[in-house]
Amino acid sequence: MENLQKGLQGHREEARPPATVAVVACRYCGQPIVWTWTGKAFMPVDVRPSDRGTFVLVPRDNGRSPQSEYVGKDSGKEAHESHFATCPKADVARDHAKLRRRQNR
Ligand SMILES: [Zn+2]
Repeated sequence: MENLQKGLQGHREEARPPATVAVVACRYCGQPIVWTWTGKAFMPVDVRPSDRGTFVLVPRDNGRSPQSEYVGKDSGKEAHESHFATCPKADVARDHAKLRRRQNR
């Protein structure tokens, strides 16, 4: 019985998202997102894990944004999708980015 409880506890801890993750609202659609560090740039991912998710979040110390690790589809892990792929306002966000680039020239 004790072993079973320990097993369950261990499982629950694994399933819990990292405690340091800061959830913010997407400025374009208002959905909750988490900014992650890919190793090269920051990338927003959906807070809720998805069947189509391709990134797992790896916590980093000092409350920094978690590292997103690409695992591909059907990894069997609790994976998150890039918000660039799911944001219903992604077109608007892209247009804004284009506009900014043009203005910076
Ligand atoms: Zn969005």
